[in-house]
Amino acid sequence: MIVRVALDVPLPKLFDYRAEDATRADIGCRVLVPFGKKRLVGLIVELATESEVPASRLRAAERILREVAPLRREWMELAKFCSNYYRRPLGEVVAAALPSRLRSARPIPDAPRDYALTPAGADALAAIPSRHRRLRALLSRLAKGRASASELAAQAKGGRNLLRRSIETGWIASIELERSEPRFVHAHELTSEQRQAISILRGGLEKFRVSLLFGVTGSGKTEIYLQLIAEVLARSKQVLILVPEIALTPALEAAFRDRFPGACIVTQTSAMPELERVRGWLLAHNGRADIVLGTRLAVFAPLPRLGLVVVDEEQDASFKQREGVRYSARDLAITRGQIAGVPVVLCSATPSLESFQHATSGKYELVPLTRRAIDRAALPAIRLIDTRVHPSQEGIVPPLLEALAARLARGEQSLVFLNRRGYAPALACPACGWVKGCRRCSANMVVHLAVQRLNCHHCGLTEGIPRACPECGNPDLQAFGRGTQRIELVLGERFPQARILRVDSDSARAKSGLEDLLERATHADILIGTQILAKGHHFERLTLAGVLNADSGLFSSDYRASERTFAQLQQVAGRAGRANLPGEVLIQTRYPEHPLYQSLVRHDYRGFARSVLAERREAGFPPFVFEAALRAESHDALRAQRFLRSAIDQSPRGSASITVFDPAPMSLARLAGMERAQVLVQSRSRSRLQAFLAEWSDSLYRTPAHGVRWHLDVDPIEF
Ligand code: ADP
Ligand code: ZN
Ligand code: ZN
Repeated sequence: MIVRVALDVPLPKLFDYRAEDATRADIGCRVLVPFGKKRLVGLIVELATESEVPASRLRAAERILREVAPLRREWMELAKFCSNYYRRPLGEVVAAALPSRLRSARPIPDAPRDYALTPAGADALAAIPSRHRRLRALLSRLAKGRASASELAAQAKGGRNLLRRSIETGWIASIELERSEPRFVHAHELTSEQRQAISILRGGLEKFRVSLLFGVTGSGKTEIYLQLIAEVLARSKQVLILVPEIALTPALEAAFRDRFPGACIVTQTSAMPELERVRGWLLAHNGRADIVLGTRLAVFAPLPRLGLVVVDEEQDASFKQREGVRYSARDLAITRGQIAGVPVVLCSATPSLESFQHATSGKYELVPLTRRAIDRAALPAIRLIDTRVHPSQEGIVPPLLEALAARLARGEQSLVFLNRRGYAPALACPACGWVKGCRRCSANMVVHLAVQRLNCHHCGLTEGIPRACPECGNPDLQAFGRGTQRIELVLGERFPQARILRVDSDSARAKSGLEDLLERATHADILIGTQILAKGHHFERLTLAGVLNADSGLFSSDYRASERTFAQLQQVAGRAGRANLPGEVLIQTRYPEHPLYQSLVRHDYRGFARSVLAERREAGFPPFVFEAALRAESHDALRAQRFLRSAIDQSPRGSASITVFDPAPMSLARLAGMERAQVLVQSRSRSRLQAFLAEWSDSLYRTPAHGVRWHLDVDPIEF
């Protein structure tokens, strides 16, 4: 018997091995095989009785790893689809899809456990002084009920260590996972709109169908999919939920546990420790897990009883993998639903234009929600402040300063949104015009005054701040533009009495983690934040959102920039005025008449989407054409160009429906010392593009690359 094995090597083929003991039941099992001088773990994809490899050279598989049950046909089908569609070897897809532990022959860990407070722990909690904040947070979480390790780790920085030590002390005990019927806790009487939405979705639970749950922030989309999940669990099926943000999954896991007591809930993210991930994966695989909640890689969780797939914030760019197998988890989720014959629900307040187009053309079912669920009253009032009429002072327009002062006086909270971290985006010499660039990237270094360093936000290089201009010796270098740190200082001087908190990835790293920072954020008067603050957090007292550099998204060369800007601004606006206090959003701009802003002010996503879709149709951009990019990277820009030229020469001929553009540098032409260029390919037909790419990539894989790294990106989102 011969097994045909998918291995994580950059060759688009399967590898044959002798395996005397192999049977059909081993298809989908992992197998340990020799490969050159190494030993690799691969996946058995097929059995065969003969091989193209001569018998004398055919090596024997070392061991079939049967301790994990074989991956099922549906899972294999998804992996094969991913391999074909994104033009990557199946072995690379399998490697990207499996937890790292399963890519080795190491033993499989024992079953996962939950954690609970012991009586001694309860006594300790009462006695521990409040300055031990992290320990108290951990124990108080458990005082509310059992929790998983990942949830506890998210309670505080160093949560895992704290957990381990508390177990040693006897304050926390590990306990068996719950094994009861999942129940659902009803929290709200649904609004009539919500009832209508749920009845539409409920009607389609038995078959594959894609629905777009499209409703403004706070319209109760989460509530609807929670109810739908309850229905699916009641039918003894499993549910897969994909979310964009790693930082939000612990909070979501906690919310799910509250609403689904008794359910076995598993999270899957790239940030979790290897053992924890593989334990959850095994629960999903053996059918124990009821709910799998995770970021894009969770789309590959094996789910034998799958009954529903939910993709929350489906427009989010983080669903697209940006290296290796460049898959879109949103798109694979749909394929997955199709393979399993189960419904897929996409949720968004600002859907991707692809999804919106499908929903309006009838390919997807559109399930709209037009009003907020609570305080039906008001969406926030959005005002545009013209910076030509109201020149900014230190980056902030006077009407925004006044609005901030008014909130301070009323004891309400404000958010100042600026999607640019650091102190200033450029350091320059006013005498000769020199600008400090990164020596490894085609980008400027960003000034970080707090640590007195310059940082490259693309490659991570850091340097000290020079004392004088290297060109003309001028000692008076200036920081141009404003990032969150600078705005923090400006507002600190302006409002010395205010509690100001900056929330961006720098402050999250410097302080004790994002969760902790968000906890403190509820007590601040003014929050200054980047997009990590725009997503999904609810602040009860927040009534004002000010937006500082929104214009930067208006005139980008990337045709997706306006779509992203609209989504982001609406998300920021969604932070303002959630409870009983009406919200207000002030956007400072030089272009208040811009159609994007005009739609935003009217809360008119549909109008915005229609006009942008019309432009895209006119200009021949997705979703009306399909795209792929062939990219090349090399230390030498000429080599990359030459590679792409010869790739074009060897591209399949005779297809009038395919347009191949000339090689062009990427918008960030140099990254970490590598010169980057690409060739864009377009077609109005997805299947013709696929056929073209299949032939093209086969020939590229056969050609030596001469020191050039290359890859194909199908449905690219960055240029
Ligand atoms: P979305 O996901 O659309 O932003 P959520 O589902 O998070 O909205 O709901 C927003 C808020 O409204 C939440 O605090 C939720 O608990 C509450 N909510 C949702 N549905 C109802 C309802 N029918 N009645 C009262 N409150 C509701
Ligand atoms: Zn100079
Ligand atoms: Zn750099």
